Amino acid sequence: MGSSPHFTYAYINVANIVLLLILAIKAKKSGIDRTKMRFVFLLSIYFAVAMNIFDCAWCLILNFASPRPVWLLKFVNNFYFLSFALSAYLWFVYSEYTYKKTIFINNAGKIISLCPIFALIALYILNDITGWLYHFDFDSATNDYVYIRGGWLYYFQHVLSYAYIVLASIKFAIIGSKMTKKDVSKMLTMISFALPPLVCAILQPFFQTVPILSSSPVFSFLIVYTNTLNAQVSLDPLTGIYNRRRLSIELSKRIKYLPPKHELYFLFMDVDAFKDLNDTYGHNEGDKTLLLIAEVLASIAEDTNSICARYGGDEFAFVLTLPEDSDVNDVVTRIEESIHQKSIAEKFRHTVSVSIGITKFNKEIDNANSLIVNADKKMYQTKLERYGNTDKIINNTPHSDLVLSENLFLEKLFSVHFDGAILIDVNEDKIVEINRFITKKMARYLDIENVSFTQNIANCTDIYVAEVLRERFKQELSIPFLVEKLKKVLHYFTDFQFSPPGSDKIMHKRLNFRYYDENKKFIMCSMEDITSAFSNDIDPLTGIYDSTGFHKKVDRWIAENPGKKFRIQRYNIDNFKDINGVYGYDIGDKLLKDIGNYMYSYSTDDYFCGHLSADNFARFCPEGSMSPQESYELFLKFFSKYGLSIPINIHIGIYDLCEEGESPYRMSYKALLALQKIKYDLNNHYAYYERGMSEKEQEQLEMLREIQTAIVKNQFEVYFQPQVDFEKKKVFCAEALVRWNHPTKGLVAPGKFIPLLEKSNYISKVDIYVIDKTCKYLRKWMDELGRKDIKVSVNLSRKDIIDKHFLDLLERTIDFYKLPHSSINLEVTESAYMQDTEKITNIINYLREKGFSIEIDDFGSGYSSLNTLKELTVDKIKLDMKFLSDNSDKSKHIISNMIKLSKDLETPIIAEGVETLEQAKMLYEFGCNQMQGYYFSKPLPAEKYEALIYGKSSLENLK
Ligand code: C2E
Ligand code: CA
Ligand code: CA
Repeated sequence: MGSSPHFTYAYINVANIVLLLILAIKAKKSGIDRTKMRFVFLLSIYFAVAMNIFDCAWCLILNFASPRPVWLLKFVNNFYFLSFALSAYLWFVYSEYTYKKTIFINNAGKIISLCPIFALIALYILNDITGWLYHFDFDSATNDYVYIRGGWLYYFQHVLSYAYIVLASIKFAIIGSKMTKKDVSKMLTMISFALPPLVCAILQPFFQTVPILSSSPVFSFLIVYTNTLNAQVSLDPLTGIYNRRRLSIELSKRIKYLPPKHELYFLFMDVDAFKDLNDTYGHNEGDKTLLLIAEVLASIAEDTNSICARYGGDEFAFVLTLPEDSDVNDVVTRIEESIHQKSIAEKFRHTVSVSIGITKFNKEIDNANSLIVNADKKMYQTKLERYGNTDKIINNTPHSDLVLSENLFLEKLFSVHFDGAILIDVNEDKIVEINRFITKKMARYLDIENVSFTQNIANCTDIYVAEVLRERFKQELSIPFLVEKLKKVLHYFTDFQFSPPGSDKIMHKRLNFRYYDENKKFIMCSMEDITSAFSNDIDPLTGIYDSTGFHKKVDRWIAENPGKKFRIQRYNIDNFKDINGVYGYDIGDKLLKDIGNYMYSYSTDDYFCGHLSADNFARFCPEGSMSPQESYELFLKFFSKYGLSIPINIHIGIYDLCEEGESPYRMSYKALLALQKIKYDLNNHYAYYERGMSEKEQEQLEMLREIQTAIVKNQFEVYFQPQVDFEKKKVFCAEALVRWNHPTKGLVAPGKFIPLLEKSNYISKVDIYVIDKTCKYLRKWMDELGRKDIKVSVNLSRKDIIDKHFLDLLERTIDFYKLPHSSINLEVTESAYMQDTEKITNIINYLREKGFSIEIDDFGSGYSSLNTLKELTVDKIKLDMKFLSDNSDKSKHIISNMIKLSKDLETPIIAEGVETLEQAKMLYEFGCNQMQGYYFSKPLPAEKYEALIYGKSSLENLK
């Protein structure tokens, strides 16, 4: 029924307008036209008509508008009510004049005749007041007013007000018994107008979400305005349920309007071990947990007509009203079970549970605040029972609306970083618990009851410490070692990485040791969580330094060891992408973690390592540490039995120049440059940075930056190099080659920037740009020459053809210029086929089906050219120019055989890089007739190539 009342109202409005117009006409015809009354009378009728039209339109708009301009609706609607009242009144006045009934003429009659409007106004005011008090509510979900319970009084008024009109009309009908039959029937029509709202009013209580219409404009506006504001500031941003503020408003309302024979319960909940959960699994997981709980609470709240809210942090509240004889524990159980089940259904890695404190509203606890305070106390009791801490809660005075207990206070105070403290009995090798509370979380890592300290450390190591670190951990926490250390320092501490089982989160714990007593019988050991303090410098995945941490450490080392020599080694894992691709990220991450652990296991304060990013690691090596060759071999040995079918190998880049004033970041970057040079080299696995490398790199980077804007600045041009038929002495095609018209460097050849671009996705943008320009020329040439057979070859990069989006764009571009696909030949370099042969083959086949000619570029340059031909069907082979450039007999043999091969495969062949007549003749003799090269023409700007095909010029060497 959501919006249908609007239609009803619209209908009533229309009816009312008609009625009022009839009245107006009648009034005009009546004998009262010379009195002032007529003017007032007509004016009010027209006003009522106007308001009704307006209202009617709004009612209809409201059915479709979203969000609904509620306040306006209410505002306008009031006029509707008033006009309704007015029309009733006018009807009376009109009758008075028309029928000259004595009863209306004396004063008493006048008062009686005014009664309807006074009564109605009174009712509307009452209506507003009760509406305000009882049943208005703003539903923030629908941004609309809704009925909630307890609105019966309101409906009663509706019924009353409409009934009044009906009764008044009937009364009038009786008085006007001398009326003509026509008048009586008119009267009945009017009565019938009152019926729909009457029915509406009777039905409304049964539908909870019918938009409410208030009666006073001012009130309407106020209610809506304040409620909108409330709604905006009253939801918890994370979970979307009520926040604390809204909770207290709602709670007070509930308390105020608690129905008889009902009980009101306040449930206060706190997520168990939320802090640990956040620490262990991260804040994201923490948020997910809160959301889960909010969802469960919200759905139960909806079912049980309750209120739920996030009180703050990990605390939630639930307010429910139950009949006297029902058991609140049913709801509590339901909450607990639903949370549990949902956490399982959603595959949470940890258990989610809440501790619930329940308070019943009664004479002593009779306001919202004391309800909350008491429930919080009880909740804390539940927690204590659950977690075995039986310390008494001190009876407290609530501070604001928070309950404080001594322990809670201490817990909050310590909880940030403090994991607890124990005593170690040095001679007995025993753990002595100081106090349950102070031992706190450590009790979880240790078995405090009876086992020896050494045994405890051993057990704990196996669970929480990564394998490669275990020996070190055990050794540094052995009692003799500690005793030795504490001989030298008062306070000894050591930092370790912990990872809880089943989680990849690494926590950093600092263990502090100092003697407790003068007899040195006990060592006091406390544990702190330093993860957050570390987290900027430590890579959470591997637990070793991250980029910042590593470089900071390098900086510190250099400052502390002036003049000493050192080396920075950068490591990159070969084919790490494939490892991720084949085995998934979990295995990839595990490998990174294992490498991190492996590197860490060889680390000392001087010889440290870092995980800088993805598969990039770094090691700092002071003079005298093992050579790169040794570290490479050690690595290989360690990972030789790693158990993945893809072998684990690395390349190392080394920086050892120790340039003064160079920043650690730059130095490690230089090591990376050395690494990049040999990254794909199968024979060299490490390389040193040499002076000048970074300058070249710098220049390239500079270029890369400039190139980003080159397209926008229109700096790219397309040149066309003619391809000729040697026998017919004719240009039959051209290759489109990009040129960069650099503002300061002039024309830059693609060899300088294409390889750079190929590393980024930017290459596709340039290629599509070239294709677009090429198509534009082709269109022009075809139109102007009236020929359809003009063709151009364009170069595609590997990145292009494996990019679905690019292929899409390619097709769309060609279609845009209405060119046949066959007019664009696609050159794909042979090396592109080397990786992902199958995938590329499929794409090539797809493109051929689409009507494109595929040419295999630089054929013969790779090491498995013949293989490529076996797998792939192409339309043309482009012989790599290196065979022509070196004039050896061997090359000639290769050329002649390749040409023969192309004949056997019935695939046309074209030779590029033809620079001399001799070369051309030789190729022709071998059977290759299609050629491209400087001998015929260098790549030409578009206008020159155009002149050539337009016959306005010709190639010198083709004559
Ligand atoms: P490519 O596809 O092998 O293009 C042929 C290259 O050989 C062109 O160099 C051309 O100017 C040059 N060349 C032509 N005849 C001779 C000759 O007789 N002797 C010599 N020594 N060279 C000759 P360019 O224009 O510098 O292009 C170099 C490479 O850049 C191209 O090699 C191609 O791989 C790439 N490239 C050029 N334009 C584009 C493009 O729009 N997109 C993509 N992805 N790559 C392009
Ligand atoms: Ca090419
Ligand atoms: Ca080529």
